[in-house]
Amino acid sequence: MTSLNDVPQPVRLGTWPTPLEPMPRLAHSLGLGAEDLWVKRDDLVGLGGGGNKARKLEWLCGAAVAEGATHLVTTGAPQSNHARLTAAAGARLGLETVLVLAGTPDATPQGNLTLDALFGATCVWAGAGGGPALATAAEDVAARLRADGARPALLPFGGSSALGALGYGACGHELLTQAPDLDTVVVAMGSGGTMAGLVHALGPQRVLGVHCGAVTDPVDVVAALVSDLSGAPLPPDSLRLRLDQVGEGYGTLTEPVMAALNRTARTEGIVLDPVYTGRAMAGLIAAVADGDIAPGRRTVFLHTGGLPGLFGHTGALAATAADLTTRSRTL
Ligand SMILES: *Cc1c(COP(=O)(O)O)cnc(C)c1O
Repeated sequence: MTSLNDVPQPVRLGTWPTPLEPMPRLAHSLGLGAEDLWVKRDDLVGLGGGGNKARKLEWLCGAAVAEGATHLVTTGAPQSNHARLTAAAGARLGLETVLVLAGTPDATPQGNLTLDALFGATCVWAGAGGGPALATAAEDVAARLRADGARPALLPFGGSSALGALGYGACGHELLTQAPDLDTVVVAMGSGGTMAGLVHALGPQRVLGVHCGAVTDPVDVVAALVSDLSGAPLPPDSLRLRLDQVGEGYGTLTEPVMAALNRTARTEGIVLDPVYTGRAMAGLIAAVADGDIAPGRRTVFLHTGGLPGLFGHTGALAATAADLTTRSRTL
């Protein structure tokens, strides 16, 4: 994108503003004060199972509609929340959705794939071979649709272009009206657009990203998106990005992630997911332990959604099943 001065209006897909709620029992369990820790509920956006991709899709779909698109085409992992919300947005807007997914079809689709099917999306399985292969496959799908007379709009991986990230610039301003004394917002970093939009709105010092292992060069990805948004280069070393929660790689279940899921569920009745928000919370807990997040200041955890992914994650399902066995009795 060369200029963001003249972008089409976003379409409305969610219910705004999302709530900002205190998490006093979780705060207490971490040694923070009851007023120190809040959660921004972007899991409750109202569209298709919720999550952060809805804000990006408002802008991306605004451009697609303005171009007269007939189809939305995007890429992702099989349990992609972005793919699921693209399918929901397509349904809402009366557009066909084609999801180009990594790997091969699951024997028993679960989690996000179940919802992709409910929203009526078509899935094209691209086989093994990482990001570039997936992008090429999506180009091929779009070219074939064009040859058939359709007008496909190709949406970026994770919805993370500067245009999509505008949705999180708006979220940053929304957050400031709810919490003017915000010290730090903690956010999962996947494809980078969410963190980049927040940094654009709030400055690099108030945003703590937690890398989830979805890209190989997280700092450069976020810095490039922020530069695209602002039109000026951002020094990459000004970003606050924790790299310590990736474990064995994207999507793998780590002990701190499972502990964060349990702790948040058992203190606040709030469900996190094992791929993104659980990592972000594990990063927040680590940041409290090493003093990067301190008592007496307002920290906001951005809940970016992902609940359906819990039901598509073999490791998390096995861990919860084992836990359930230990606490089950018969009368
Ligand atoms: C995609 C996603 C993220 C990461 O957002 P990016 O903008 O891709 O960095 C975080 N949480 C959930 C649940 C997501 O689906």
